[in-house]
Amino acid sequence: MRHLQGVVEVITGPMFSGKTEELIRRLRRAVIAKQKVQVFKPALDKRYAETAVASHAGSAFEAVPLQDIGEIWDHLRDDTTVVGLDEAQFFSEEVTQVVQDLADRGIRVIIAGLDMDFRGEPFGPMPALLAQADRVDKLQAICVKCGFPATRSQRLIDGKPARYDDPVIIVGASEMYEARCRQHHEVPGRPKA
Ligand code: ADP
Repeated sequence: MRHLQGVVEVITGPMFSGKTEELIRRLRRAVIAKQKVQVFKPALDKRYAETAVASHAGSAFEAVPLQDIGEIWDHLRDDTTVVGLDEAQFFSEEVTQVVQDLADRGIRVIIAGLDMDFRGEPFGPMPALLAQADRVDKLQAICVKCGFPATRSQRLIDGKPARYDDPVIIVGASEMYEARCRQHHEVPGRPKA
């Protein structure tokens, strides 16, 4: 059943805030409503499974990895009424036009993505996606330092806060992320605003 008009929903927030869980919850409900659902994610995210979106708590939903968001047109089925996009911060800026085109076709587009990178700066196409959305839900995680709501993703390299200008990939280093509140988010070397 087609929607009368398309709609764009964005689920955002830091790592561990439950974006993927919420995306999967909405997708499962769409399936119950007999919608035709397809999910896509950037191919570069190798977290947990290649052909699924997977939450940190273990739930998963089948997804098609795309090298480039433009490839979506090769995969999109004529009867699809709901499109999910996970890890949307890793798509190129072209994703904003693709989302617009999907919504113009009457499709409900549900997008999950990080609003900020580890530096606390806007992440890729997310600002534009947030602006064009009909509905935005900004989720919070729990700060691992104090238990308050966390809005930031802390990057740690060999157990220490990553510096502002550390390279994206550091060969041989062990790297991890945790959820932190504004007060406990540390980015050594960050330029003063
Ligand atoms: P996101 O997609 O935003 O990274 P997920 O949906 O993958 O989040 O995972 C959310 C789950 O992560 C939570 O339901 C919880 O089980 C787990 N989790 C682990 N660490 C934290 C934390 N610091 N704050 C909140 N949830 C956490």
